[in-house]
Amino acid sequence: MRKIEVVQNILEANDFIAAQNQQLLNRNGVFATNIMAAPGAGKTSLILQTIAELKNKLRIAVIEGDVASTLDSEKVRKEVTDVVQITTRNMSESCTLIANMVGHALKRLPLGDIDLLLIENVGNLICPSEFALGEHRRVVISSLPEGDDKPTKYPLIFADADAVVINKLDFLPYVEFDIQSFQNALKGLNPRVEIFQVSCKTGAGIENWGAWLLKELEANKLKPQSPK
Ligand code: MG
Repeated sequence: MRKIEVVQNILEANDFIAAQNQQLLNRNGVFATNIMAAPGAGKTSLILQTIAELKNKLRIAVIEGDVASTLDSEKVRKEVTDVVQITTRNMSESCTLIANMVGHALKRLPLGDIDLLLIENVGNLICPSEFALGEHRRVVISSLPEGDDKPTKYPLIFADADAVVINKLDFLPYVEFDIQSFQNALKGLNPRVEIFQVSCKTGAGIENWGAWLLKELEANKLKPQSPK
């Protein structure tokens, strides 16, 4: 009983800081997306493709969460100037970003000059689902080589996603992945979820994904913001 109380308090504290982060983002007109996936599903690749697709329309910044290395940040920094790395290895939560870490990263970004903030979460399908960061949309990437059973095995993260990106479509001839059964399982958990099929390698499907992100960003601008 006591343990459950402690866990709830941590999550409540996190939600409080996440709400502060979102207010700060809203005051500055920044739309934030939390990108979650297992390691190797293509979070960095999707971020790079998204930058290529939208950089002429939006000013983009990236927060890179990783357990140990700065490899992904270095790739992203070639494409956008505003990149903040969060390395979680020595932190209390190393399997996910939490709102407090993102709050610190936001202080290091020129928020007034940013339209879209892409947050690459730590590679994990369990921990990130519990911790809001202040994002406006939550996105999960699932790639074909991982298999089509992930929504059934990790329902929490998929049930709460605004969009799911099925990546590595170019692997379809080589792997057992039933796209229809994946989508059926996903819709069963989350009927309102948007689903995109892409290949970050070939660029297939990226246009649709970018158009959705742009539409959601515009819709968020029209939403009445909570009082400061
Ligand atoms: Mg990555």
